[in-house]
Amino acid sequence: MAKHKVSFIPGDGIGPEVSDAACRCIQATGVDIEFDFVGAGTETFEETGSLLPEKTLESIRENKVAIKGPITTPVGYGFRSVNVALRKEFDLYACVRPCKSYPGIRSRYNNVDIVVIRENTEDLYAGIEFELNKPETFRIIEEITSLTGSTIRPDSGISIKPISITGTRRVVKYAFEYALKHGREKVTVVHKANIMKYTDGLFLKTAREVAAEYEGRVEFEDRIVDNMCMQLVQRPEAYDILVLSNLYGDIISDLCAGLVGGLGVAPGANIGDKGAIFEATHGSAPKYKGLNRVNPTAMILSGVLMLEYLGEAAAARLLEAAVAEVMREGKKVTYDFKEHRNDPAAVGTREMTDAIIDKIRHMRRPHEA
Ligand code: NAD
Repeated sequence: MAKHKVSFIPGDGIGPEVSDAACRCIQATGVDIEFDFVGAGTETFEETGSLLPEKTLESIRENKVAIKGPITTPVGYGFRSVNVALRKEFDLYACVRPCKSYPGIRSRYNNVDIVVIRENTEDLYAGIEFELNKPETFRIIEEITSLTGSTIRPDSGISIKPISITGTRRVVKYAFEYALKHGREKVTVVHKANIMKYTDGLFLKTAREVAAEYEGRVEFEDRIVDNMCMQLVQRPEAYDILVLSNLYGDIISDLCAGLVGGLGVAPGANIGDKGAIFEATHGSAPKYKGLNRVNPTAMILSGVLMLEYLGEAAAARLLEAAVAEVMREGKKVTYDFKEHRNDPAAVGTREMTDAIIDKIRHMRRPHEA
């Protein structure tokens, strides 16, 4: 039996191509791992009648660790999104997105090393919404008026923003534990507590309480989200770990991906107490499906995060070093890493993956390469 058993959801659109790349690269590190390939998404729906079959959930429940390719959010099916359903099912409350500059990647900055940790279950993304002109919407408007004296226009839609001490505490604690584990120095909590006193104010107050438990070990500071955006653009090198509620985390993690070269290089992990699912930040880019064109890097780097989580630090370092070397050389890279997007010297997904595997082999056994 393999040392690690991991559920693998290849996804749809470009998912199967980048998943194949990640799978081959992870195996090339020599780590003792077995993948259980299971389905989710629209193609699985066509085969099984379910977007997220019980068999897939069972596999993740058993293995507790999964890696997945992107999945198209279908319009008009039962779920809002398979991705959201998975995060809910396994209570994956921390979304971790490292954004790091690699030599060779064209970007405005070359000194960024930020980890964005986003709360994944609450806030305006909790899915509690009231649609325009529905009876329940009129009722909630009336109730709010009678409770607060504030008026809401009757032609309004409403989204609710719940922020709890429980939800905040666990994600902020995760950020501090991550800092200790990875030898990082500072956690910055990002909020808009000056305006939303009872939600962001609570997030900040709770974060300060958690920070006190780590005093002297990890530095702590807070930033208002608008100021944070400006500072990240002006001096991203001043930041280390950011911890944010769901909506700000979603926006700031794309901003940070942009600081280091875009979606092609942005890996991610969704972590909970009962398990973890690793996935690239990017989506299923359906227009590139099956064209052997897209960049496999984000998915491969998600594999690096997974290897770290599994305690396979040496394999993780090896895989990251191989990817970094291919990017630094800049020869066998996909179109999005080239100065001109239609550069004929760009290679395909498979060829870039092969180049990374060659580097892994060379690094493992330099005398044979
Ligand atoms: P997207 O990330 O799929 O694509 C946006 C653009 O980014 C693409 O057109 C392409 O130019 C570029 N891009 C993305 N990945 C790339 C890669 N690996 N290499 C090179 N270029 C790349 O975003 P979208 O078009 O907004 O979403 C498409 C679908 O994916 C939607 O259904 C969305 O809901 C879904 N989605 C899924 C996930 C997930 O599974 N976690 C995440 C985001 C979006």
